[in-house]
Amino acid sequence: MKRLFGTFGIRRIANEELTPELASRLAAAYGTLVQGRVAVGGDPRTTTSMIKHAVISGLLSSGCDVFDLGILPTPAVQFAVRNYYDGGVIITASHNPPNFNGIKIVDKDGIGIPDSTEEKIEEMFMVQNPEGDLVENPDEFFVKNPDRVSWDQMGEVVSNLNITEEYIENVITRVDGEAIKNAKLKVLVDCGSGAACFTTPYVLRRLGCEVTTMNCQPDGFFPGRNPEPNKENLQELIVAVKAIGADLGIAHDGDADRTICIDEKGNFVFGDKTFALVEKYMLIENGGGLIVTTVATSSAIYDIAEEHGGEVVTTAVGDLLVARELKDRDGLFGGEENGGLIFPDFVYGRDAALSTAKIVEIMARQKKPLSQLIKELPAYHSDKKKVECPDDLKEEVMEKIAEIAKATGNKVDTTDGVKIFKDEGWVIIRASGTEPIFRCFAEAEKEEDAKEMAEWGINLVIKQLES
Ligand code: MG
Repeated sequence: MKRLFGTFGIRRIANEELTPELASRLAAAYGTLVQGRVAVGGDPRTTTSMIKHAVISGLLSSGCDVFDLGILPTPAVQFAVRNYYDGGVIITASHNPPNFNGIKIVDKDGIGIPDSTEEKIEEMFMVQNPEGDLVENPDEFFVKNPDRVSWDQMGEVVSNLNITEEYIENVITRVDGEAIKNAKLKVLVDCGSGAACFTTPYVLRRLGCEVTTMNCQPDGFFPGRNPEPNKENLQELIVAVKAIGADLGIAHDGDADRTICIDEKGNFVFGDKTFALVEKYMLIENGGGLIVTTVATSSAIYDIAEEHGGEVVTTAVGDLLVARELKDRDGLFGGEENGGLIFPDFVYGRDAALSTAKIVEIMARQKKPLSQLIKELPAYHSDKKKVECPDDLKEEVMEKIAEIAKATGNKVDTTDGVKIFKDEGWVIIRASGTEPIFRCFAEAEKEEDAKEMAEWGINLVIKQLES
């Protein structure tokens, strides 16, 4: 069982829990496994440089050569690794508050490393006490140590600051520049002071959009807004889109792997709608194809696939699982309901810049406002609920719920948590991988059905906790 890593890497309070010592030892353990040319990059957090230099030290000490890509989006590092390097380490806490930072490790394809590799790293990182428990206290009980190479085996650090430019160029060549230029779209971009400051405004300007920016100076204090691009945090963007009469508002999270849209009327567009929109036109343009998503994604994805010659495959929740499935099955496109879209022939991970370019391309080619394009998608209603649950009870509660769900006679999917298909729609009950909570998510054609099912699902969890 993994102790150190969450669903994608490590995310902790910087310099309290995520210290340079931790980062360096972790990087040395990873370097021992990869033994090659490793790229490192990160987001503009105040602690990124500190952690990055510790990671570089760890990688060097295990005999790797290091390529420092500077401050850039997570997908730009994944793009670089896939094209040039044997592995990569990304210093980012994505959308978490400014006091957090994190470490994401990717393999030679730029996909988050699998659980099996994380476990090997943990074996070298963790230490075992006399009772046989793995504890995080580097003393005399090391199970295994990272390899530390001698002075004459030491690698080099090379700076490569060309990746951002190459990444931008690559995004631009993947869309219909002529159509976008002719559409003269007015776009308001809110990068939330994150890594997208170096990419999205430039991509859109070179494509011929009229671009206005807000929060587009990189700043680890995130002075303009919280880096999580949810409706609550994007109120200023919503107001500004209407005020300047923009055709589109674009917002990203801290490490620029997610894109959220505001339509020309100032409506917040949920991530599953953007996913469905891009899916539709990807399938039309390519004459069908394989779509990969998670079990928690809208039925709209299936409806669109059916109408446009697509096939849908689902994985457990986690963007690296979607990315890996896309690679293994040579899929066309994938995504998650949170606005993370994956274009597997470009980057094996969520990519915000190409998502943005693709959305303006669709608007330009269809010559329709975003609100209209969204209206044309299959409409479903959803409802989300959550309840606190101690981590050590999660498994037991989940097992009981699975039994109850199967006894209802409805179709049940246990890929990740328990998903129950009812006549009115579906409901999924999952234990969070990162927090001591259970989440329940329901979707139906009628709003009251979605609410009712979410209520039913969360009550099921509460009853188990009380018994
Ligand atoms: Mg992110």
